[in-house]
Formats: sequence, structure tokens, C-alpha cells
Amino acid sequence: MLLTISTTHRPATDLGYLLHKNPQRLHSQAFGFGQAHVFYPEAREDLCTAALLLEVDPIGLVRKSGPSGEGFALEQYVNDRPYVASSFLSVALGQFFRTAMTGRSKDRQELADTAIPYEIRLPVLPCRGGETVLRRLFEPLGYAVCAERLALDEAFPAWGDSAYFDVTLSIKARLADILRHLYVLIPVLDQDKHYWIGDDEVEKLLRHGEGWLDAHPDKELIARRYLKSFKGLTAQAMERLSDGTSEPDPVREGGQEETLERKINLNQQRLEWVIATLKRLGAKSVVDMGCGEGKLIGLMAKDIDFDRISGCDVSVRALEIARERLNFDRMPEFQQQRITLMQSALTYRDKRLTGYDAATVIEVIEHLEPDRVDAFARSLFEYAKPGVVILTTPNAEYNALFENLPSGKFRHPDHRFEWTRAEFEAWAQATAVRFGYAVTFDTIGQVDERLGAPTQAGIFRKL
Ligand code: SAH
Repeated sequence: MLLTISTTHRPATDLGYLLHKNPQRLHSQAFGFGQAHVFYPEAREDLCTAALLLEVDPIGLVRKSGPSGEGFALEQYVNDRPYVASSFLSVALGQFFRTAMTGRSKDRQELADTAIPYEIRLPVLPCRGGETVLRRLFEPLGYAVCAERLALDEAFPAWGDSAYFDVTLSIKARLADILRHLYVLIPVLDQDKHYWIGDDEVEKLLRHGEGWLDAHPDKELIARRYLKSFKGLTAQAMERLSDGTSEPDPVREGGQEETLERKINLNQQRLEWVIATLKRLGAKSVVDMGCGEGKLIGLMAKDIDFDRISGCDVSVRALEIARERLNFDRMPEFQQQRITLMQSALTYRDKRLTGYDAATVIEVIEHLEPDRVDAFARSLFEYAKPGVVILTTPNAEYNALFENLPSGKFRHPDHRFEWTRAEFEAWAQATAVRFGYAVTFDTIGQVDERLGAPTQAGIFRKL
């Protein structure tokens, strides 16, 4: 992991005073996750570059955090942690440049208070949400962003692109501000787990965000993603306490639900069940309503049985992520023609959602306000009228089996309700009769004798 900061402001070697690190020396420090070093690959009057290099020890990390029940056997040892800029980099920044981040300089206070030109380079930066999000984070702060997506393997261009970018940021600013931007925004861009050292992240976010975060147009996204890693730490600790094995992925939005359901890998089972059901019913054109980040669309895209695939969601951000995940802009033309992503609210009629063999509504209905469920049912069954509707929703009774879920709580903070089996079946039967469909029921996930399965599903067929 490497980060470099350069300036051409003469005498450029004054950078050493601002960073409180002598350009003549190598500065090294051991961290829980490995070694970090600060050194100056060039220190001239006209150009000075400080480099922060992290040598992350993935094996040490695993030993520290304990075994994980997820992933392939060697994943803990063969991962990208040593190579990419991630939250470790923030931890190291905060340690090495603690004084510089406060804007104080013993010997060059005036320079520390002055905006001078800097160039920051991160040769391998993971960017969740791709270049769009990268630009959205840095450009409002005045950075010129130059980003090049890295290939998975230079020798095999056919393998396609990786999720990493070679990023150069240019700006005229105070060094302290730049360091505080990087401290917060690098983990926001990261797409993997975060390993925080402290547990005072809310306070850190506020402190390092002071003076810029409040005015940032994407402050909500920044705070949510940054603190998700913090929440993840708590969730991780809780999970360990209760069963000592699995390791949640705190990063994805809605991480709580994923964490709860991860042990049984419910999400994957659900998607596989949907694909199998669509195929069994011979659906060729499918619209995934409330498609979120596009996991189901990705699976359908790989299957030649589906010739027209659409996804809609009310969240523009979810659609952006879906577009990135699917690598939509880099797909061959025939794939692009097969797939459509659109913004649409399911409680309103939308002509673009008509004419499909099937509609899937996977874990979406419980996000609607109860008094909007009727508007949704009419838009779907009366107006869009697909031949088949596949709808899944949590079975509230099963929640008692999630050890970490306090009773009376929903699986996800955004859920507006969760139905028991009887409630769901009553709604589904009445809806089918009202709109001229026949409904059958199925379950997904391991069935508990008393409480049923974690996910309940209705399969509606137009009569
Ligand atoms: N179907 C996906 C995502 C489920 S999360 C999956 O199974 O992984 C619920 C999704 O429904 C979110 O992406 C949310 O943005 C979307 N959603 C919530 N209310 C909506 C509405 N009124 N119209 C369209 N989408 C909605």
C-alpha cells in the first residue's frame, strides 16, 4: 500500500517541516497489522515527495482476528489487503502525521496555514462505486481527479478490469486539510472489511471532518459508509461473543440484515431459488423490481435462458452501484441491449414495467410503508400485469432464531413491517383473487419445525 504526497512549492523540502518528518531519514513504525514507513523518494528544492508505505501482514491479521467461517480455505492468506490502500492507510496517516493533521508546525507555521500546490498519488486504490463515487467524494473539495482503472492482470486483458484505480489528486490547499480528507475518504471508498484500532470512530469522523464534511454534498454517504465500518466492528464483536465463528461483512449497505442472515448464506440461496423458479416457469423476459445493487440481474445476465432483463429501483445510488457491479459500461453491445436499469418507484404506475413474462420482487415489500402496499399491489398486478410474479419477504416468526436480534426488532432498520406466515399468506391470497392471479407458496432457507423458514415466497400466476 502506497500513498505519495508531492509539492513543487519552493523550497519543496519544507514539506518535511510540515509533516514533522525529516526527509533525510527513514521513519518506521510497527502496527497491529504490519509495518509502516515514511520516506522521501525525492527531496529537492523544486520537487519533494513524501511516501507512506504500508507492509500489511495478512497472516498476522488472521491470527489476530481469529478463524472465519466464510470464504475459501486460503482466502485469509491470499487476499488483497497487503496491496491496496484501505483503512490501514488511515490508521497509519493518523499516527505518522498526527501533528500535521492538526495544522500545527513548529518551524513553518505560516506555510502550514497557506494553500500550496500538492499532488497526491494512490497507485492502487479500491473504489467502491467506481470512478463516479471517487469523483463525487473528491471533486467538491476542489481536487482535480485523474483516475485509471487497473486491469485484473496486465498480461491477460480478457480477464477484464479490477475494482482498483490508479488515482492522482491535484489541489492547492493546506496540507492539514488534505490529510484529513484522505483520512476519512480512503476508508469510505474501500470495499472490504475494515479493521479499526479504536472504538471512538464517531468522534474521529467529526474531528477530522470539521470544516469540510458539513458542507460536502455527499456528507450522508460519507458518514454512513465511514461509520458502517465502525458499526461493523461492534457487530463483529457481538457475533464472536455469541458463536465464536463467522465474520460479518459490515460494509454493504443494509449490513445488519446481511450479518444476521450470513450464517445460513440466505441471500445466495434466495437468488438461486429465484433463478430456478423463473426457469421452471419458462420466463424469458424478467423485470427485477427493487433490484438494489443488481445481484439477481448479474446472475440472470450469465444465463442464456433470459433474453430481456430489466431492473428498477427507487434509489439512484443503488442503481449506480448495480451499474458498476455489472460492469455495464464495459459490456459487449449485445449484453448492453439485453439489460436495462431504470429508476422507478413501485408504488406508481410505470409503463416501462409492462410487457414482461415475469416480475421478481425480492425482499422489497417490507420496505414500503404499510399504507403504500395497496398502491404497490395495483401498480404491479393491475397495471404492469406480468404473467408471473415472484415475491419474497422475511418470515417474522423466524426472527426468534437470530441470536443477535432483540425480540420485537426487524431484521433491517429500513423494514417498515415484517409479516408472519399467516399474515403474508392472507395478503397474497386476497391480492391474487382481487387481480385475477393464482398463488402458491414456497420457502427458502432451513425450515424450523415450529417457526418455519427464514424467507417466505409467493409465486403468482396470471389466470
Ligand atoms: N432485491 C434486492 C434488494 C432488496 S433491498 C435483493 O434481494 O438483494 C430493497 C430494495 O428496494 C432497495 O434497493 C430499495 O431501494 C428498494 N425500494 C424500496 N422502496 C422502493 C420503492 N418504493 N420503489 C422501488 N424500489 C424500492
